[in-house]
Amino acid sequence: MQLVFASNNKNKIKEIQLLVPASIQILSLEDIGCTEDIAETADTIEGNAILKANYVTEKYGYDCFADDSGLEVDALNGEPGVFSARYAGEPKNDENNIAKLLTNLKDVKNKKANFKTVICLNSKGKQHLFTGIINGQIIEERIGTNGFGYDPIFVADGYEKTFAELSLEEKSNISHRGIAVKKLIDFLK
Ligand code: IMP
Repeated sequence: MQLVFASNNKNKIKEIQLLVPASIQILSLEDIGCTEDIAETADTIEGNAILKANYVTEKYGYDCFADDSGLEVDALNGEPGVFSARYAGEPKNDENNIAKLLTNLKDVKNKKANFKTVICLNSKGKQHLFTGIINGQIIEERIGTNGFGYDPIFVADGYEKTFAELSLEEKSNISHRGIAVKKLIDFLK
């Protein structure tokens, strides 16, 4: 069985291919000749995952899954959320995004936040959503050099280290993306 992962991120595709049953061949967007950018125009994380999966299924006729993630901060009514990648504007820049977030949270006591991933799977004419959420806190200074995005300022509940201080394996075991991917894999199995 062939399944498209609506992504051109080679690392993500390799990771997924190792996790799914061997009977499922994961194809990238490049593999199916989809070279155009799929505009992420929805106003929710779920919406963007659905939009990307539907684009591939409707335009190319493949069963497909797509993911979208973001950081939701309680005191900012869920911002940056779906706008996480470009919170500080174009071009997307992790450093500037963190700086903007820390400025907006200055003098705010409630630092609760969560990372969220939604995976949308279109398979055999049906649509399935898998959500992964990890709760934690935003800290006031960057710590750690691993990972990407908001990792240096996010500490998961029950942990003392930021996501940027965890190894990729430690992070994947508990992360929003790890949780959503596990749900997808269990379903595919
Ligand atoms: P994407 O949908 O996985 O590309 O994530 C969108 C944006 O959310 C990223 O560009 C980051 O700013 C933020 N983000 C998502 N997942 C993570 C994570 O695991 N660590 C830090 N930031 C993340």
